[in-house]
Amino acid sequence: MLELRPTCENCNTPLPPDSLEARICTYECTYCASCVDGVLDNVCPNCGGGFVPRPIRPSRNWKNDNYLGKDPAGTKVRHRPVDPATHATFAAGIRSIPPEKR
Ligand SMILES: [Zn+2]
Ligand SMILES: [Zn+2]
Repeated sequence: MLELRPTCENCNTPLPPDSLEARICTYECTYCASCVDGVLDNVCPNCGGGFVPRPIRPSRNWKNDNYLGKDPAGTKVRHRPVDPATHATFAAGIRSIPPEKR
């Protein structure tokens, strides 16, 4: 199950479970849209993969207890800011390769 991490791992801005700004990679590394677009160039600094919008877990119990009330968002903050220059070099190398071959 997705952990729904509470903040952007780069700038630490809050990303509550209903945030439309949260982006995740396949490993659930979590960043805000502004960092993904402006600093990360859609390259995850931890794994080199890309990002997609994080889905919103229902706040209501529509079906079978699959909702935030039973499975709340994570609380463990992982604030590990990237160095923009170091990341730019890392991202440029990856982005020079076609997405399906990365
Ligand atoms: Zn951010
Ligand atoms: Zn990642």
